[in-house]
Amino acid sequence: MTNTTNTTNKKTDVLSNKSDRTSSEQTGLDPTESREISEQDWKSKLTPEQYKILREKKTEMPFSGKHLREKRKGIYKCAGCGCELFSSDTKFESGTGWPSFTNPINRENVILREDGSLFMSRIEVLCKKCGGHLGHVFNDGPRGKNRYCINSACLDFKENKDF
Ligand SMILES: [Zn+2]
Repeated sequence: MTNTTNTTNKKTDVLSNKSDRTSSEQTGLDPTESREISEQDWKSKLTPEQYKILREKKTEMPFSGKHLREKRKGIYKCAGCGCELFSSDTKFESGTGWPSFTNPINRENVILREDGSLFMSRIEVLCKKCGGHLGHVFNDGPRGKNRYCINSACLDFKENKDF
């Protein structure tokens, strides 16, 4: 990864271009950048469905998401901040109706947190950079692996044939 050496330059670009709030190219992992985004800003940046899921922790209807049947090679980024979250390499068909992955691209890019809502004990998955709710992780994936059950609406897919 050559990203580390670019971080400073990239951050300067972002800061000098403050009016461009819809840019999804903010790939630096500096959490201070997104902490200042207000809920009102999120509302204007995200679609109503994305806002409900990422910021209010709702869940999209099963079998409704745009990435469920995506088979191309590429990277799934956070729809809130552009952070790279999942790769097509770890995507599998779980039959649950939500895009499912055995692993994040980098465990450092997500936060796992205990979630006791809806009278269930689950592990919530959040984007490390913007704190957006992505879905939940379960330990019943294929061949003893995990199953990251992620809402399509939280992800932007970027095709990469060489990946
Ligand atoms: Zn994010």
